[in-house]
Amino acid sequence: MGAFSWMVWGWIGAAAATAALLFVVSAPYGRHRRPGWGPQLPAVAGWALMEGVSLVVIAGLFVAGGRFDDPAAWVFFIAWALHYVNRSVVHPLRARLAGTLMPVSIVAMAVVFNGMNAGLNGAWLFHLAPPYGAAWLSDPRFVVGAALFVLGAVINLDADSRLRALRAPGETGYQIPRGGLYERVSCPNYLGEIVEWTGFALATWSLPALSFAVWTVANLSPRALAHHRWYRATFPDYPPTRRALLPYVW
Ligand code: NDP
Repeated sequence: MGAFSWMVWGWIGAAAATAALLFVVSAPYGRHRRPGWGPQLPAVAGWALMEGVSLVVIAGLFVAGGRFDDPAAWVFFIAWALHYVNRSVVHPLRARLAGTLMPVSIVAMAVVFNGMNAGLNGAWLFHLAPPYGAAWLSDPRFVVGAALFVLGAVINLDADSRLRALRAPGETGYQIPRGGLYERVSCPNYLGEIVEWTGFALATWSLPALSFAVWTVANLSPRALAHHRWYRATFPDYPPTRRALLPYVW
C-alpha cells in the first residue's frame, strides 16, 4: 500500500476518533452553542469561510490536473462544486443566520477538515488515479452512485428548505419541523448529506471519497442524536415515533 493510501486510512481513523468525541461533546454551533469556546464571528461569514475552502481547493486541483478532456473528471468536479456553492454561498445567505454567531475555533477546525478532505479527493481524482474516461460513466458503480448522490442532495435541500420556512427574517427561535422526511426522522438534512457522499464514494470507487463518507457519518450521527434529544427535551408534544437519523431504526 502506498503512502497516499496510508494517509487516507489514517484520516479514516481520525474520523472514528472524532465520532467518539462528538457523541460526548456536541460541536458548539447552532442550538448547541455555549460559552467557553473562545471568540466568535458571524455565522454567515463562518459558513462561507469554512465551506468555501473546499470549493477553492477542489477547483485548484481540478485546474492543475488538466484533465479537461475526461468527461468523468468534469462530472466529479461539477458535482462537488455544485454542492459547495450551495453550502458556502446559498445556504449561509438563505438560512436565517443574521445576528447568529459561531466560535472561531469551530470554523478553524472545519477549515482544516474541508481543506484536507478536498485535498485528498482532488489529488486522487484529478492527479493520482488513472483517468476514469467516458466509459466509467456507464459503469454500474457510477450509475448507482450518481443516483444516490442526486437522491441525497434532493433530501438535503428539501429538509434545509423546510427548516428555513420555520423562521421569518430576524427570528431565532425553534419549532417542530413538519412534512417530508421530518415525519420519520429529526434530521433528514443530515441523512441526505450522508446518502449524497456515500453515493459519491460509490460513483468514484475511491478510498478518499470513502473517507469523506465516513467523516460525514462521524460528524453528523452524533449531531443528529444531540438534536433529537434536544427536540424531545424541549417539546413535550414532539412526535414519539420520529427517530434521530434513520427512519424506523435509530
Ligand atoms: P441544522 O439542522 O442544525 O440547522 C440548519 C438551519 O436551520 C440553521 O439555520 C438552524 O438555525 C435552522 N434550524 C434548525 N432546526 C430548526 C428548527 N427546529 N426551527 C427553526 N430553525 C431551525 O443544520 P447544521 O447547521 O448543522 O447544518 C447545515 C447544513 O450543513 C446541513 O445541510 C448539513 O447536512 C450540512 N453539514 C454537513 C456536514 C458534513 O460533515 N458534510 C457537517 C455539518 C453540516 P440555528 O443555526 O440557529 O440552530
